[in-house]
Amino acid sequence: MALMRGPMRPQPSPAIFLDKDGTLLEDVPYNVDPARIALAPGAGDGLRLLGATGLPLIVVSNQPGVALGYFPEHALEGVAQRLGELFALHGATLGGFYFCPHAPAADGSIHCACRKPGDGMLRQAAAAHGITLEGSWMIGDILNDVEAGRRAGCQTILIANGNETRWQPGPLRVPDYIVGRFDEAAAIVIAQQARHLSHVSRVSHTSPTSPASPSSSAHHLRAVA
Ligand SMILES: [Mg+2]
Ligand SMILES: [Zn+2]
Repeated sequence: MALMRGPMRPQPSPAIFLDKDGTLLEDVPYNVDPARIALAPGAGDGLRLLGATGLPLIVVSNQPGVALGYFPEHALEGVAQRLGELFALHGATLGGFYFCPHAPAADGSIHCACRKPGDGMLRQAAAAHGITLEGSWMIGDILNDVEAGRRAGCQTILIANGNETRWQPGPLRVPDYIVGRFDEAAAIVIAQQARHLSHVSRVSHTSPTSPASPSSSAHHLRAVA
């Protein structure tokens, strides 16, 4: 399900997918009260960094509380609105809010395509926003987030803040990076983007027939520095 689907981008672009609870926000189980929504440590600074990349920031969240009857689906509209306010407070834009309203079966098995560790929400967002999954990022606090990201072909960052407790192994459950806080995850994305941009800049400087545009590339580099 999507709230705030956002505009289709004119050209396909990577995105940064963010888990919500325990990653962006302090984990308050099944909370939908906007007044109890608070950013996790480092998330404000991290959002400022990620917002400067210009890449769409898209939240993908398992919300089994809907299927379990703990709250109605429309309660998530208030959550999305508060998230959007918190993004804006830190110079970022919430590009989309996707959630899986389903619950796993009693034996833990999953019967929908959207619940993480499935990659359905990422693929749905990619189709709706014109996102290229290759080159995109998934940041989360448990290995199910990592697996969802890797299934979609994204680079993955695990914030190992103690929320993962089972460490169930698997070939798709190995993150590209492990950090302790959200702002450290953002710094990795920034560093990789800067490497990519400096490579592009170097290539264009060596071409005599197509001079680089220093103003635009400098702007990008400054924006992500
Ligand atoms: Mg989480
Ligand atoms: Zn689902």
